[in-house]
Amino acid sequence: MKRLFQVSAIVLAGFATFLIAIQSSQAEWLDGLRIDPAQSQQMLSFQQGITDADDLLSSACAVKPIPRPGRLRNLPAIQGAPPLTRFRQDSPSNSTFQPVEEVALAHPSNFGRRFTQDLSGRPVSNDPIIVLHETVGSGSSAINYFRMSHPRDNDQVSYHTLIRENGNIVYLVPPDRRAFGAGNSIFSGNKGNEAVKTNPTFPPSVNNFAYHISLATPPDGRGNGSRHSGYTRAQYQSLAWLVAKTGIPNDRITTHQLVDRSRQRRDPRSFNAQYFAQLLAAFPKTNDISMQCTLPAIAQEE
Ligand SMILES: [Zn+2]
Repeated sequence: MKRLFQVSAIVLAGFATFLIAIQSSQAEWLDGLRIDPAQSQQMLSFQQGITDADDLLSSACAVKPIPRPGRLRNLPAIQGAPPLTRFRQDSPSNSTFQPVEEVALAHPSNFGRRFTQDLSGRPVSNDPIIVLHETVGSGSSAINYFRMSHPRDNDQVSYHTLIRENGNIVYLVPPDRRAFGAGNSIFSGNKGNEAVKTNPTFPPSVNNFAYHISLATPPDGRGNGSRHSGYTRAQYQSLAWLVAKTGIPNDRITTHQLVDRSRQRRDPRSFNAQYFAQLLAAFPKTNDISMQCTLPAIAQEE
């Protein structure tokens, strides 16, 4: 009887994962790259545990990456949703604009701690940058992808925040954590070229000091065309409100296309930088969204 129960549980778990895999197969495009639906099949053998959010979401950096290539991040799912204040504080503002905000925490396999040293042990202290993206596929399919477990390094991807076509802001990764938004990337600004190597098998990237924001792509922008009809007024307003809350100076706001070194990313396509700059100037800059770790760094990432 006990054995029968065990078999049933395995079959049920397998079926649930299969359903998730079907859902993910709709996410054909994500951030300009085609997502291979077959990649989801690996989840059939992945055991998902449930962990309390306090363990995996503390605001601590890690000192140094573990130099172990090809390591699977078999992290358990997090139970419950963190409060909105885990993603942004709320200082009094002289703006009357208030977007709708949602929390949809990414699976912890898709993000990590920020590091205080690079792979070779050199201290890193880059000022934060903002990297703007678009989802290319629908916003909802991108969120579904981030919320699924992706134990293989190659499949792990996330933004900190996504802005839906209706302007709703969706918080996915806490700002003091490292979202996997732009592998193989360099930011070229006033301080020269900036990138940090944190993984022995991947090139250096800006992820250790980046805050990644993505705009949901309109339906006519699916696939790999060079342009589309653009983003909604509500998206630009929410983006300006959000970026102002980071306090990041304008000369450290960039796009995935500009930091990318693979020459494969062109997002966000059809972005109206002038309109965005106008809206941004109307919002007071605050430090409501901070990339700083507020707890002492732990020796190694879990
Ligand atoms: Zn991108």
